[in-house]
Amino acid sequence: MKALIVANWKENPVTQKEAVELFNTVEEGVGKVTNVEVVICPPFVYLPLLSGLTLGAQNVSYEEKGAFTGEVSPLMLKDLKVTYVIVGHSEARRNLHETDETVNKKVRECLGISLKPILCVGENMGENKKEVLEKQITEGLKNVPEEQLKNVVIAYEPIWAIGTGRNCSIEETQESVLMIKKIILKLYDKKIKNAVTILYGGSVTSKNSEEYIKDGGVNGLLVGGSSLNAEDFVKIVTLAKNIDKVLRLSII
Ligand code: PEP
Repeated sequence: MKALIVANWKENPVTQKEAVELFNTVEEGVGKVTNVEVVICPPFVYLPLLSGLTLGAQNVSYEEKGAFTGEVSPLMLKDLKVTYVIVGHSEARRNLHETDETVNKKVRECLGISLKPILCVGENMGENKKEVLEKQITEGLKNVPEEQLKNVVIAYEPIWAIGTGRNCSIEETQESVLMIKKIILKLYDKKIKNAVTILYGGSVTSKNSEEYIKDGGVNGLLVGGSSLNAEDFVKIVTLAKNIDKVLRLSII
């Protein structure tokens, strides 16, 4: 099994030159690393400039074309050779008023045209984690057939850990991964044949990343801030290469 390491550049960097340089440095650095799938999610405008690593987008419209000012069609992303799309990131839920309903439309639209959605879920400080995860996953995966689950990635990103430097403990990550797996099992009536890929995201650095890969029970990582530093990101990718040698948490 390959680890999946996804870079979310968010609204960075601010010039094409810097974007291409960052991408090329990462591409060169991870060139010899096997057993890891590396995905770069730059802002939309840089997608046509980048090739050589798997590309992801940071959002998508659930409409394929038409009078939707400011939106980017999933068909446009397909045309740009994009493979993954981040859907329901907490920043989009907060700033762009993304709801579980729009997230679900995006997930289904992506799957319908063979784009792989990275469905972001996670609680904020003080919220009931089980309730939040149950709602976000149940509504996010509504009407997604079981055979499509192999194309879905779930990113567990506790909001309090994103960009704060307060990464989630390994024990809590394990607990959350098991919770997510149980929610999916319940949702699909335990008839699951296709396992879902689960990532952890939230203040991952080259100093803490290996712990998640070794003991977190995850299939990979979603990396924000640290993906903007090529050296750090390459280190995170390199440290993920031994994922199939480590203990995995049971259930699916
Ligand atoms: C993210 O934006 O998905 C993220 C995990 O950010 P950071 O790594 O900066 O916490």
